[in-house]
Amino acid sequence: MKCTRCKKEALVKLKRHNAKFCGDCFEVFFSRQVESAIKRKNMFSEEEKVLVGVSGGKDSMSLWHYLKKAGYEVVAIHFDLGIEEHSQKSRQIVEEFARQNSFPLEIIEVKKEVGFSIPEIKKRIPYRPICSMCGLIKRYLLNFWAFREHFSVYATGHNLDDEAATLLGNVLHWQIDYLSHQHPTLPSPHPKMVKKVKPFYTLTEEEIMIYIRLHNIPFLEERCPLSRRAKSWDYKEALNFLEEKSPGTKHMFWLGFLETGQKYFRQEEPPLHLGECSICGMPTTQEVCSFCRLIQKVKEREEKYLDYNGGK
Ligand code: SF4
Ligand SMILES: [Zn+2]
Ligand SMILES: [Zn+2]
Repeated sequence: MKCTRCKKEALVKLKRHNAKFCGDCFEVFFSRQVESAIKRKNMFSEEEKVLVGVSGGKDSMSLWHYLKKAGYEVVAIHFDLGIEEHSQKSRQIVEEFARQNSFPLEIIEVKKEVGFSIPEIKKRIPYRPICSMCGLIKRYLLNFWAFREHFSVYATGHNLDDEAATLLGNVLHWQIDYLSHQHPTLPSPHPKMVKKVKPFYTLTEEEIMIYIRLHNIPFLEERCPLSRRAKSWDYKEALNFLEEKSPGTKHMFWLGFLETGQKYFRQEEPPLHLGECSICGMPTTQEVCSFCRLIQKVKEREEKYLDYNGGK
């Protein structure tokens, strides 16, 4: 098998591009994809400071590695969610990687910030899906921290497979509002809200795995023990089935949507009236933001929980 670009021995085959690459040419391909995503979607400039949310999983670890290697000014932030062994292992991987490469890293312990770990919140509010509460807390803290430390942008490792699965879910449920907004760059709607970007939106999970192997980047493979089988896994499986039959399907679906389909779903936006939360001062459309309402609820339930469990 010969490399499509330089004709040396190829290491990998990318069916959707009908191409085979040696290690060096794969690097060129990977870098072109990310750089063109950053520029085409106005994500950030070389001078801007970028905050990268790093969970310890393959996508965020490779995004962190890529942006640093490419010379961007990057600071990583990792949330220690307090999910026992899982959080310990993730934190260890991220800290060790930062130490070995002298990469700047901030660790935010959710329990210290909000008074409760994620499993403690789950115990107190068992009727609400834990991932929606955990996601809300992470998004809030990430934005809060980025704003406080004067970052204008934060980047996450969402890839083409993630976005195609989200798109499929949005189409199946005709979530017009989400279809109108699903985009690799979400601009800031308020001075206290930081722009969010996804520089890997044109790269598949398979391509990210190749990058990770080529660079020997450590990552945590196990899933979070609190995660239930999410609908998005089924959507990914369905798309992978189609991809197998017809390589390039996911690419056509997601990137074709951005180029051609999305304009049919664009909604006339009524002006968003964002006030400031009466508790934390961050932007919200209500009197109290959803993060502060959640934390208030957990505190109320804490009293009942302690009464019920004899103060333990
Ligand atoms: S799977 Fe759910 S609970 Fe676990 S880290 Fe992700 S969002 Fe949080
Ligand atoms: Zn080559
Ligand atoms: Zn608030």
